[in-house]
Amino acid sequence: MQTWASTAVPRIPGQPRPLRLYDSASGSVRPTAPGRVARMYVCGITPYDATHLGHAATYLAFDLIHRLWLDAGHEVEYVQNVTDVDDPLLERAERDQQDWTVLAMCETALFREDMEALRVLPPHHYVGAVESIPSIAEAVEKLLASGAAYRIDDPQYPDVYFDHTATGRFGYESNYDEKTMLTLSAERGGDPDRPGKRHPLDALLWRMAREGEPSWPSPLGEGRPGWHVECSVIALERLGTGFDVQGGGSDLIFPHHEYSAAHAEALSGDYPFARFYVHAGMIGLDGEKMSKSKGNLVFVSKLRAQGVEPAALRLALFAGHYRSDRSWTQQLLEQAQARLARWREAVALPAGPPAEDTIARLRDRLTDDLDTPRALDVIDAWASAALTRSGTDTEAPRAIREAVDALLGVDL
Ligand code: ZN
Repeated sequence: MQTWASTAVPRIPGQPRPLRLYDSASGSVRPTAPGRVARMYVCGITPYDATHLGHAATYLAFDLIHRLWLDAGHEVEYVQNVTDVDDPLLERAERDQQDWTVLAMCETALFREDMEALRVLPPHHYVGAVESIPSIAEAVEKLLASGAAYRIDDPQYPDVYFDHTATGRFGYESNYDEKTMLTLSAERGGDPDRPGKRHPLDALLWRMAREGEPSWPSPLGEGRPGWHVECSVIALERLGTGFDVQGGGSDLIFPHHEYSAAHAEALSGDYPFARFYVHAGMIGLDGEKMSKSKGNLVFVSKLRAQGVEPAALRLALFAGHYRSDRSWTQQLLEQAQARLARWREAVALPAGPPAEDTIARLRDRLTDDLDTPRALDVIDAWASAALTRSGTDTEAPRAIREAVDALLGVDL
């Protein structure tokens, strides 16, 4: 699939720091240790309701990881998928009496536009589920052959399911107990009560064709893939196993990332699928959960159309920590707009206090599990000092502007 345009990232002086991140599997903050090429997979959108602020917050968090690895001198191999066929997309198309392929295409195009406007560095491989169907079917055949998958006992629709005990490690990514897993599975697109499965936690790999649903021919029989195996296959093909970061919103901790890891580990025989499982918190609106069922989604494109600058959106979302669930408010946006104006005023001055120490502290905060609230404080402090004309370094305003551009992706 076509990705979106990149913006140049300035090289900034000083000593980069190793990036430390919270890993859901180990429950701890640890230093990432990529090789020359850092490898990251971030789960992409199912293309409907794009791009709400929850999406934006997630992709912005991983954009910071991308930027910090670049700063540390790594190349970054970044893969993102688009779940361009799945139940939620088909249900939305049905509800709106729209062709599902048109809906997917329009929403994916809108997402790309929003990402570009937000200056999110693009993935190198932007891969759709539909274009990956032949490889996914092949992987499911392999899982069937090895005994990690089985056909459900249903003469009409003998769908293929994954035996969740196949790797002997199921549960290591989320660390949830079985009761929690069953609850979340039912809430988030799973089917624990489907008759004919060997165990309620076994997950769908291949859904045989149904009347009125899209399907593709394959040696497994005409059908379409489950969601989790899509990401396993796309990630394994582009990144291999043991890549540095598997990412997404915290609602992907279970079931999605648990099963993607289990499927991939059963396929490859390697462990772990990813070294870090990194999750961004959810964005609410005025203290309420933002969700399609509540009808209170706030869209990046709507805010842009109202004249809100993407740079202010970045600063508003960075004012909270990426892992915390937090609320979007008008006040948050106004504070970010005021901050952006203050920073711009400060870097437009002919001189300011020296930048080296500020840049070092900015790196310290960001490489400490993306501590953006404290990173913004660092630039606030420099801007306040500059605006009270307490500095004489004529290089400093440009150096700060470039550091804010490179590390925070904010164009001053
Ligand atoms: Zn995924």
